Amino acid sequence: MNLYPRTVLPILLLGATGALLATALAPPWGFYAHRKINRQAVFTLPPEMIVFYKKNIEYLTEHAVDPDMRRYATRHEAPRHFMDLDRYGEPPFPTLPRHWADALAQFSEYYFINEKNDTLPLFKRGPEGHLYLEDSLVFFEKTGQSLPYDTLLAFFKSDILPQYYEDNWVVDCGVFSARFGSVLPRCNGIFVVDKLSEHGILPYHLNKMLNSLKYAFIEQDAKKILRLSADFGHYVADAHVPLHTSQNYNGQLSGQDGIHAFWETRLPELFAEDTYDFWVGKASLIEKPQDYFWDIVLKSHSYVDSVLGIEKDLRRQFPPDRQFCNEMRGDVLVKTQCEDFAKAYSDRMGSMVEDRMRAAIVATGSAWYTAWVLAGQPDLRSLANPGSEEDEEQKELEQAVKSGKLLGRPHE
Ligand SMILES: [Zn+2]
Repeated sequence: MNLYPRTVLPILLLGATGALLATALAPPWGFYAHRKINRQAVFTLPPEMIVFYKKNIEYLTEHAVDPDMRRYATRHEAPRHFMDLDRYGEPPFPTLPRHWADALAQFSEYYFINEKNDTLPLFKRGPEGHLYLEDSLVFFEKTGQSLPYDTLLAFFKSDILPQYYEDNWVVDCGVFSARFGSVLPRCNGIFVVDKLSEHGILPYHLNKMLNSLKYAFIEQDAKKILRLSADFGHYVADAHVPLHTSQNYNGQLSGQDGIHAFWETRLPELFAEDTYDFWVGKASLIEKPQDYFWDIVLKSHSYVDSVLGIEKDLRRQFPPDRQFCNEMRGDVLVKTQCEDFAKAYSDRMGSMVEDRMRAAIVATGSAWYTAWVLAGQPDLRSLANPGSEEDEEQKELEQAVKSGKLLGRPHE
């Protein structure tokens, strides 16, 4: 989940502005649910893993919200927490590639700069996902030829993907000509624009995390294992939140602003400790990780209509003055959903929030467990204790949060 900036939206601060930071830093699913999910996930693990994870359970709990902090340090972070599935048609979104590189290649835009420094599209879209070289590029020897998807993908992987973290993705005209066996005499440059990431990459990122954690186990790097495990739990938890899979992530498209934190923060805060059951059984091996992660977000997405529809209904039924109440948070008075209103919302959804939290706990444990199995089940008893002192990276993260500048789109 994501937190800081949008958190303050549904909560109208009535106190002194000096108290703003305290409220803004109290993230929704964040401090409560993220920590709870990482913590409980430890107890789903087999004995060979518990020996290490339980020893470090405080670290895994405390650092469950690091990925949200990292959104202040790099613009690449924000898209990892959500994916606007509904912009890709109807479930199960068959035209949306399940592989990250495929999706990135398909949803990027490709441009060509001619000798007059005009920017022109390099390709036009054809049937069956094929791209065609633009007819206007008449100098191109094979103008109008179809570019099979595999050819584009190979080009994308070899020449574009390594630039993913660069600000601009550029391709040398000569390199492009060589790749496609043609000459581009009037080419002044080729560049590619990422049109996928801004709409979220969460399910793709889960796959990447599994791989990274696997290698940390292979390297037997205790510190890395813990850091990646804490992060992984965060993203898995985010994937279980319906509104992390929709363009209407905060009800902003349907006049329901603030519903994001209502669902993922207010409800667990009010009801989880007393009424949710967090004993979820054992982690299991994920046979097909990519399908498994996609199933999580698709399932989350299937709840979006209920999450929004039920709240909309209740807003009509409840008198406006019984929907929002003033409440003390520390020494700050905040405006938030009244308990009765929250209870009615929770009741109408049945056990949805609890079920998603429980599923997130099992999935987090299973993701950690699967990475360990894929790494060949290394003996974790011999791992060095990584120590509790904060490292440089952590200090930089905290410094970035203090700067208060969120990089990329907030998704809550
Ligand atoms: Zn998040």
